[in-house]
Amino acid sequence: MATIAIGGIMHESNTFSNTPTDFEAFSHSIGEDLFPVWKGTHHEMGGFIQGVVQQGFTAYPTLMATATPAGPVTDAAFDKLTDILIQQLKAIPKLDGLLLALHGAMVVESYPDGDGEVLRRLRDAFGESLPIVVTLDHHANVSQQMVDRSTALVIYKTNPHIDQRLRGLQAAELMMHILKEKVIPTQVLAKPPMILNILYQNTSAEPMRSIIKEAEQLERDANILVANVAAGYPYADVYEVGPSFVVVTNNDPKLAQAETNRLSDMLWNIRDQLTLDLPDAVDAVRQAISSHEHPVILVEMGDNIGGGSPGDSTFILAELLRQKASGFVVVLCDPENVQACVQVGVGNEVSLEVGGKADNLHGNPVAIQGKVRLIHDGHFIETEPRHGGQKYHNQGLTTVVAVGDSLVVLTSNRQTPFSLQQLLSLGINPKAMRMIVVKAAIAYRAAYETIAGKIIEVDTPGLTAVNPLHFKYENVRRPLFPLD
Ligand SMILES: [Zn+2]
Repeated sequence: MATIAIGGIMHESNTFSNTPTDFEAFSHSIGEDLFPVWKGTHHEMGGFIQGVVQQGFTAYPTLMATATPAGPVTDAAFDKLTDILIQQLKAIPKLDGLLLALHGAMVVESYPDGDGEVLRRLRDAFGESLPIVVTLDHHANVSQQMVDRSTALVIYKTNPHIDQRLRGLQAAELMMHILKEKVIPTQVLAKPPMILNILYQNTSAEPMRSIIKEAEQLERDANILVANVAAGYPYADVYEVGPSFVVVTNNDPKLAQAETNRLSDMLWNIRDQLTLDLPDAVDAVRQAISSHEHPVILVEMGDNIGGGSPGDSTFILAELLRQKASGFVVVLCDPENVQACVQVGVGNEVSLEVGGKADNLHGNPVAIQGKVRLIHDGHFIETEPRHGGQKYHNQGLTTVVAVGDSLVVLTSNRQTPFSLQQLLSLGINPKAMRMIVVKAAIAYRAAYETIAGKIIEVDTPGLTAVNPLHFKYENVRRPLFPLD
């Protein structure tokens, strides 16, 4: 029985952030410890584990490491993680293949193409002939190196990412075809010279819906093994920024080239229609107050935690207070004030200056007065297929402060708003609120569309501002739409 190793190193790195991602920022499991954390999850790792067994292989767990998006990964953390992965792989008596979960937008201090460097080191250690099937996030900024050094790429087709487990299963099935049926994956990369705005990266809406549909159609062709579309991650000042298309055929480079180009042109040809017109915080809060549909989801685009921002932006909170909005809930990462609330104790009054502390890009601290309603250890479990596919979450020691009939939730960790359990676990029924601020772009939708009365995307400043013209790109390839 063939032995298939499974592993992963995943990070999405915001190069405009000055918060480096060190080894401690990664949660990781090594060897057998990987199974209890990832088996049965909606993550590709869950798909790998199930798929390897289904295909009649033996699964050999190596390393799975993942960290919340932030600034680039330190060289020390990267060296340590790749060393562990390689050591684990070397311990396998007979290694027949590797299923590897990478993100595709990892930047390391010394390596702008961090994911490509992982693959370079693996090829260095194990040679060119080892089949390495790599899954990538839909936000991957795919490089030629990733294409050249992987046997095949399998990229999520959804954003919010709810097909991660399916992609893991697809990768395992492809591994079976490679080992048992001797298919020869042949892949070609196309990158239109553009950045696709984060707002247009929802795969349930145009333009991506049609392009993904076309890719799915291509996969029904027996000669096409995988048809990949990646929207790209705009908050990375790297050469490979932007959308990517990778078609993998069975030993047919011509077909791969033609279909890759065709998918790429579908996006490139409509770029001028992808315009931006979002309200600022003042307008958005005004619209929210006058809305008859509840809850109104106010999407704080400039503080998209899943895109690497600090999660303590106060632009919308300040405006909600200024316009005397009621029945809102805002979550801020503010460990200092969590401790202040613990000191004061549940049921007692507090005066705090919340948020706006991580840097000078996300507003000033805002004064609130209220009552400490709850202190919670911050752990919650999500069992539904939600963006990210993780089951166990920890937002750190957390407190809920009641400000009139509104709620300010203060967490100790940066927590992406991809699960309603984030609020439900604190005794907050999101459906009953009038307004909810989510610090996200698209990924929150898998959770919040199930309860939203109305969604308002808000053009706020910050590390993940929706307009790429807010950023100073120095290393990207030029010309690049819409910068030039
Ligand atoms: Zn993503």
